[in-house]
Amino acid sequence: MEQIDAISRLIASYKKLPGIGNKTAERLAYATLSFSPEEIEAFISSLKNVEENVHACPRCGMKIDTPFCPICDDTSRDDKTLLVVIDAKNVLSFEKTGKYRGKYFILGGALSPLKGIGPENIRIPELKRLVIDEKIEEVILACSSTVEGELTANYINNYLQDTSVKITHLAYGLPVGADLEYVDELTIERSLNARVNMKGE
Ligand SMILES: [Zn+2]
Repeated sequence: MEQIDAISRLIASYKKLPGIGNKTAERLAYATLSFSPEEIEAFISSLKNVEENVHACPRCGMKIDTPFCPICDDTSRDDKTLLVVIDAKNVLSFEKTGKYRGKYFILGGALSPLKGIGPENIRIPELKRLVIDEKIEEVILACSSTVEGELTANYINNYLQDTSVKITHLAYGLPVGADLEYVDELTIERSLNARVNMKGE
């Protein structure tokens, strides 16, 4: 028997999420069917709430649901150091260590010629503007050690050569290809402390 249309549509929605294939999407869709009306209501309103209230901080690109960004607006943090990450979720990995006291810049993706993602799609021009306008002293590239992350880090390094900013990258020691979110806090802290100068390489 074919899947009824209502369930097929729900399965299609779940399949849009990362790491969710056919089987899992099906399981989630059938699990949703057993939700109470209140649970369905809560589910819908949390989706709506995200759509209406979550926006990107115009400076760092972090997803926030408040008018002001808690990190950009924190005057106790060093605003001359920028840690550049691919994804907003990477910020949490560094915040968990409690050791990084600078600010962040979230690219929102990595360069990928195959997927047609170029520098202007991932806020690289904005990064340069911010470095110049706010006289940033150090940019720490934490683009993770995937092939696309590596490409992105090298591109930024070249792109910022004509500014006076110091450019460093996290010390190697992070597992190759690992997403930062799976790396433990001590490893992140160590690779941050032992960061390597990149400019001029
Ligand atoms: Zn911000």
